[in-house]
Amino acid sequence: MDKKRVYTFGDGKAEGKADMKNLLGGKGANLAEMNLIGVPVPPGFTITTDTCTEYYELGKEKVVELLKPEVETAIAELEKLMNSKFGDIENPMLVSVRSGARASMPGMMDTILNLGLNDAVVEGLTRKTGNERFVWDSYRRFIQMYGDVVLGMKPENKNDIDPFEEIIEKLKEEKGVHLDTDLTVDNLKELVDKFKAAVKNQTGNDFPDCAYEQLWGAVCSVFDSWMNDRAILYRKMENIPAEWGTAVNVQAMVFGNMGDTSATGVCFTRDAATGEDQLIGEYLINAQGEDVVAGIRTPLQVTKIGSQSWAQLACISEEERIAKYPSMEEAMPEIYKELDTYQTKLENHYRDMQDLEFTVQEGKLWMLQTRNGKRTGAAMVKIAMDMLRQGVIDEKAALLRMDPNKLDELLHPVFDKDALKQVKVIGKGLAASPGAATGKIVFNADDASDWTKRGEKVIMVRIETSPEDLAGMAAAEGILTARGGMTSHAAVVARGMGKCCVSGAGSLKIDYAGKKLEADGQTYNEGDFISINGSTGDIYEGKVATKEAELDEDFAAIMELAGKYTRMSVRTNADTPHDAEVARKFGAQGIGLTRTEHMFFEGDRIKAMREMILASTTEDREKALAKLLPYQRDDFEGILAAMEGYGVTIRLLDPPLHEFVPHEEKAQEELAQEMGVPVEMVKAKVNQLHEFNPMLGHRGCRLGNTYPEITRMQARAIIEAALNLKQKGIDARPEIMVPLTGGLKEYKMQADVIRQTAEQIFAERGERMDYLVGTMIEIPRACLVADAIATEADFFSFGTNDLTQMTFGYSRDDAGTFLPIYLDLGILKNDPFQAIDQEGVGLLMRVAVEIGRKSKENLKIGICGEHGGEPSSVEFCNGMGMDYVSCSPFRVPIARLAAAKAAIK
Ligand code: ADP
Ligand code: MG
Ligand code: MG
Repeated sequence: MDKKRVYTFGDGKAEGKADMKNLLGGKGANLAEMNLIGVPVPPGFTITTDTCTEYYELGKEKVVELLKPEVETAIAELEKLMNSKFGDIENPMLVSVRSGARASMPGMMDTILNLGLNDAVVEGLTRKTGNERFVWDSYRRFIQMYGDVVLGMKPENKNDIDPFEEIIEKLKEEKGVHLDTDLTVDNLKELVDKFKAAVKNQTGNDFPDCAYEQLWGAVCSVFDSWMNDRAILYRKMENIPAEWGTAVNVQAMVFGNMGDTSATGVCFTRDAATGEDQLIGEYLINAQGEDVVAGIRTPLQVTKIGSQSWAQLACISEEERIAKYPSMEEAMPEIYKELDTYQTKLENHYRDMQDLEFTVQEGKLWMLQTRNGKRTGAAMVKIAMDMLRQGVIDEKAALLRMDPNKLDELLHPVFDKDALKQVKVIGKGLAASPGAATGKIVFNADDASDWTKRGEKVIMVRIETSPEDLAGMAAAEGILTARGGMTSHAAVVARGMGKCCVSGAGSLKIDYAGKKLEADGQTYNEGDFISINGSTGDIYEGKVATKEAELDEDFAAIMELAGKYTRMSVRTNADTPHDAEVARKFGAQGIGLTRTEHMFFEGDRIKAMREMILASTTEDREKALAKLLPYQRDDFEGILAAMEGYGVTIRLLDPPLHEFVPHEEKAQEELAQEMGVPVEMVKAKVNQLHEFNPMLGHRGCRLGNTYPEITRMQARAIIEAALNLKQKGIDARPEIMVPLTGGLKEYKMQADVIRQTAEQIFAERGERMDYLVGTMIEIPRACLVADAIATEADFFSFGTNDLTQMTFGYSRDDAGTFLPIYLDLGILKNDPFQAIDQEGVGLLMRVAVEIGRKSKENLKIGICGEHGGEPSSVEFCNGMGMDYVSCSPFRVPIARLAAAKAAIK
């Protein structure tokens, strides 16, 4: 036999295990593992992800042929375990066909249940179970799922109604029933007839009767679903490569729809929103599969505590709750106990919070899925720190399991408590995913995307969300739903995205057609502002002011751990003392980049700057620069003091001068008047400064080398600021950085000016101090001649924004026209302006580090481009042996975590 494509599991044995996710997908690997550790799982088998790749290379027919022998053997084994036969009339075995990629993609691909039914089998199964209602309910579900997914009857346009749903709704109306569970056996039989007619009508073919034909259709459609729009979009958002492929799981059915001792449900072993160590789950009696998350009936809570707080929110009395909405803990106490045992067992086994699916068939509990649960940033931190304290994991594991980017959520603003006192609460739902969001009401995903594109902030308000709403959810500030619990689609996906979400706000009346929302007796229209608090579930009228988040002890503890294990330090990019202070609070150790250009704009400074630019002699220029000196010195004193005790890298003037002169006629006239020169002269100067490619023009050290007096003034301001602070007993550590260096001479000329100026000041003041002179490495040539530059430089700092622009030859500001297309076409894997292009730009960096350190062993090296706050780039910099990364203040915690993880790995 050639390579193995099918792995079986069942009866406490399995050919796969948890660490085979790449081959078996997350679902398949964990189904195998659960078998091995004694958790009851219906038997089945997994077709590998490699087979999916083959499917796209070799095509359908060839792959089915390759799979056939193994699948038939696996089915035979299943039949033995289940004591029934696939396709048999008297004793039939039914199966589910489930997708399962390496990374979980909840609801993105399609699952088919109850496969193996046909008219004859239905009769047989009725004789076998004596439960006619169950059998016909299963049959109509099967035809619907198979029709939608395999036969392609699900409408492409989401405004169109699913043909099967339409038939159900019509029948329910005719019979005057509200819930699916109220349909009688005869109603269900009628449904099946109508469903089949719809299949014939729409596809031209009869519904397939043969069990194997059904099976192959389903298996192939799972492979096909890997390339559906939803799955593609999800992969893009989560950075999952298309090459991974999906596995297919075929599993013996267990039935939650066999009556009142049967049920189906989902749960999280800890609270996925807050991280609290508390089982949270929802279930439905006499239901199947996705009923709980689909919002068809209101799901009940698994735990009594959960049920009571749910009832409180829904304004339901304790008597009514017990009578109508009992928890599983109360309604099925034995099963609940068993579930509790397995949830503990699974969490301890995987050492992480689990997201579980289960089904109860006539009083017997089966587990159908376990995976590490998606969670918010806050829950991520709390769960890891709790598990560390509980001794479940060690410090390194706690750090490694953090997703640095998710910390971002914790750093975002929250509603201002004082502002909240003034606003009107118009409703309350579940605190499904924390955060504070304010925006205009929109009622569907397309509007959310469109409005956001034109710069509006929106809250997407839906009765319930579905996987089709993904793009809109990503675009919206927050999501508000009227239906659905903590495990509903909206809640799970929002938490994964770190998006604020309030779900299950049952008191809202949403009218899609009229584009309005009724809450608390008031009507709100599309475009009206509302605010939602995903941490409390409150819904407010209008806009509500926000303020900075307060960080808790767990956050501080994680940061301390990061500090303990990191090798690199993290600096910040800050132009003002305020930014420097914010970053210091987040643990920044120094400034990696202070840009000085903005310091030329405020108030009178711009006048002096323009005077300098318009001057035609060095003398006049120096006169104008002398006016700027005290301002700059003050600025530097402020920022050096705010970073006392740490290095502060200050970059000399970088942008081209035309950015500082007025371009409009009126402003030019004003300037001419102020300066007492003819307007023609101003115009002529502005024209003279015009460049075709300013990015590649007269800027950076090219300015400093043509106008050394600018460098002299800036160096003086920096050194004098540091000396002034020193006198006050403040430890200032300036590091003066030359921008846009391309070679040794170009750099050295600037370094000489700086050092001579410093010596002159030391002589004037009779006092010395330490300072560094170094350069930004942002021109490809500089990387290649870094050994020469290093002889004269104390430090290098990679300016990866410019380095990326110049290495690719892409203008970052213009790349919007082609970059998205390049990403779609797969020409580029990632946006090189977000994550360092390790192959090309990264190679230049590695060369610079290597040859730079060869000529100067203790050369200090860091990065100050925006990549310095992006986790994969931070890891790359760590691997290169850099001393530090520098990023914007709010990314400092993210970079610290990423740096610690990189050091541990
Ligand atoms: P997803 O990846 O979207 O979660 P699943 O493959 O987990 O899809 O299946 C969808 C639903 O069907 C889940 O609720 C699951 O528990 C249920 N299900 C899948 N296989 C079986 C089975 N063999 N018996 C009973 N229920 C099943
Ligand atoms: Mg599932
Ligand atoms: Mg630059």
